[in-house]
Amino acid sequence: MRISYSALDSYQNCSLKYKFQNIDHIKTPKSKEAVFGTTIHDTMKFIHTPAILSPTVDEALEHFSNAWNPTVFETPDEERAAFSQGVKIIQDYYQKNNPANFNIVDLESRFQIEIGSGENKHIVSGIIDRIDKTENGYEIIDYKTTKKMPSQDKVDNDLQLSVYLQAFLARYPKEIANIEKLTVSLYYLKHGVKLSATRTVEQLKKSEELFLDVIAQIESGKFEPNITPLCDWCGYQNICPMWRHKFKELRKIDTAEIDSAINEYVELKSAISLTKDRLAEIQETILSYMDQEGVERVFGAQGIIARSLRKTYKYDDKKIREILEPLDKWESVLKVDGVALKQILGVLPFDARTEIEKAKVVDKETKTLAVKKK
Ligand code: SF4
Repeated sequence: MRISYSALDSYQNCSLKYKFQNIDHIKTPKSKEAVFGTTIHDTMKFIHTPAILSPTVDEALEHFSNAWNPTVFETPDEERAAFSQGVKIIQDYYQKNNPANFNIVDLESRFQIEIGSGENKHIVSGIIDRIDKTENGYEIIDYKTTKKMPSQDKVDNDLQLSVYLQAFLARYPKEIANIEKLTVSLYYLKHGVKLSATRTVEQLKKSEELFLDVIAQIESGKFEPNITPLCDWCGYQNICPMWRHKFKELRKIDTAEIDSAINEYVELKSAISLTKDRLAEIQETILSYMDQEGVERVFGAQGIIARSLRKTYKYDDKKIREILEPLDKWESVLKVDGVALKQILGVLPFDARTEIEKAKVVDKETKTLAVKKK
């Protein structure tokens, strides 16, 4: 199988989206977030393209402004906010980094690597945003324009960075001897924070196994929708079974009957929930009255309410095992619960039954109220 890292990532987030995108090849317009990300990535490439003089911040801002696509935004306010955010990202980047100080090896570096072996061999492709030569090793950097930043722990185990490092090692195999000096980083541009980690050979092997596992899942042909906050940016909502109904107006079909059923269902459900809450409150009042007056039944105009005590039991696993094992019955129970024990109780000798009864302790006691209507 040939698969790009981004397709695999998309499968992990929602396998149905992967299917729409990579199997059914259904095209969707690029989202404004994706267009924004592309413009920022393009500007970062411009900033770091090796030259005698690195671009100044003003030149970088001019490049960003020229590449800006305002047509994807819904309102002028939204467009203005996004543009200002882009400007801020570039200015902050220059405050923290001097582009002239980096020794760039490659930018937007395309790769294709083989993973697995024999029948289970696959080709993975992708694009590494930037590779730098550092003082004693290399750094592989991926820029992110997402709002949410992951924990360091996630970066330490990030599959994307492991795949990128494998791609780097496929190009520079001798560097495996220097693996502890190879840094992998995610640069969160909106926060101006770079999270870095290194990998061991064992970690790389494990991430390859994980990658192969995901490929096996894809090949199994099961594609299920997965509702997450990422749905907000998914271009397939109007065909996805989880969201399609929301776009019913666009399909111009008569939905009056189902609309009314949905509304009534929601109203009834919330009425039931309110009733349950109120019932619990009243039950409390009646039970405390019964405690106070020392009565077990109360009489009203509508009916009689009686209190009863419901007990649930649990068994001492160790003791039950000690009783049943010598009788060759432990295997029939395996998990100690009332149902399993009841099934074998009849065939046990009297002494064993008595012992089992003794090994039973009250787990929970609940006071319940039974109503007899007049
Ligand atoms: S809308 Fe959500 S659940 Fe549906 S395909 Fe897109 S990401 Fe998956």
